[in-house]
Amino acid sequence: MNRYYLDHNASSPLRTDVRAALSTYVNDPLGNPGGVHWHGQRARALVERVRRLLRQSIGRSDGRVVFTSGATEANNLLLKSLPTETVVVCSRIEHASVLEPLLDHSGTPIHWLEADPDGRLDPDGFARVARVVREGCLVLMAANNELGNLNDVTAFANVCLEFGWDMHVDAAQVHGRLGFDASHPGITSVTFSGHKAGGPPGVGALWVANEKRLRPQMEGGSQEMGYRSGTENVLALAGWEPLLAHPDEQSWQSLAAVRDELERWLEQTFGARANGDLQRRLPNTLHCSFPDRDAEEVVMALDLEQVSISAGSACTAGSQELSHVLRAMPWDDARRRGGVRISFGPEHVDLRLEFLKQRFMDALK
Ligand code: PMP
Repeated sequence: MNRYYLDHNASSPLRTDVRAALSTYVNDPLGNPGGVHWHGQRARALVERVRRLLRQSIGRSDGRVVFTSGATEANNLLLKSLPTETVVVCSRIEHASVLEPLLDHSGTPIHWLEADPDGRLDPDGFARVARVVREGCLVLMAANNELGNLNDVTAFANVCLEFGWDMHVDAAQVHGRLGFDASHPGITSVTFSGHKAGGPPGVGALWVANEKRLRPQMEGGSQEMGYRSGTENVLALAGWEPLLAHPDEQSWQSLAAVRDELERWLEQTFGARANGDLQRRLPNTLHCSFPDRDAEEVVMALDLEQVSISAGSACTAGSQELSHVLRAMPWDDARRRGGVRISFGPEHVDLRLEFLKQRFMDALK
């Protein structure tokens, strides 16, 4: 029986051209980009090519791109660089790699932006704070990794520009999938991850408009202009290159059809309740609550039928606790406890749903 992998928001399997690029360099090793010899220079050229592609992909020629080990490190680097007294506005449904550094950064005044029952965040709510507090930093994910909600980045960026606020966008779930245009001058920094659209895990980046504000968290050999010491992950960057050069937005966009059909069927068949902003979300993501069932039970039963889905985010998986996103939602306990995430990927564009539906029937009958 073949297995269905429906957890692309946790990590999307390597695309074929990514695998090919990786195996090229596995068999013909790159040097250290710090080396002055031919091997080193070849590696350096690769690193700089990927940096250029990343810039092009977001429409910014100013500022700096700093490569990191992933989106977690990029968020940490930006947030730990903020002066302690900086006022921060963000929501409780940001990724843990945003919330933990902020909460650890004792003294940082945080204004919480409340999510509505569909997980939507209101730019006017932020404008009310920005009008009173003269300077600060808004931290906003472009898309929520659990509910799939797409935030109105432009509306928030307009407010930031009007009131002179910085704006950090965590684009981990959209970049390489729907595309992410950071050309709005209100956006001052962006986080990227390599592995959400078929690139390798263990690589990511932070783009910042004003590099002078960065405080390196990793010291050593002064790689990445001194902002992030440690030999660049050249192999992973080689794998990221084809993804940046040839994003497959068409496939990701078209997943809405499969997602919507499965969602309707789950509602009709099991009384599942769709969660999130149903008008504005990642086309590959379905989040719903099963009545009278715990999410863990649903995930385990489906796993026995060779279907991989998730309850809460993978970063907090392994524990039976509700994810911080579900805890933050103004829902009753049953809806929170029964919440699961199904996230499709490009291999599902032409998926024949009757076989998958049968697995759900067998698991949940
Ligand atoms: N931010 C968001 C919105 C994410 O979805 C993730 C991955 N779950 C991360 C940050 C962390 O990404 P990485 O695995 O590259 O550290």
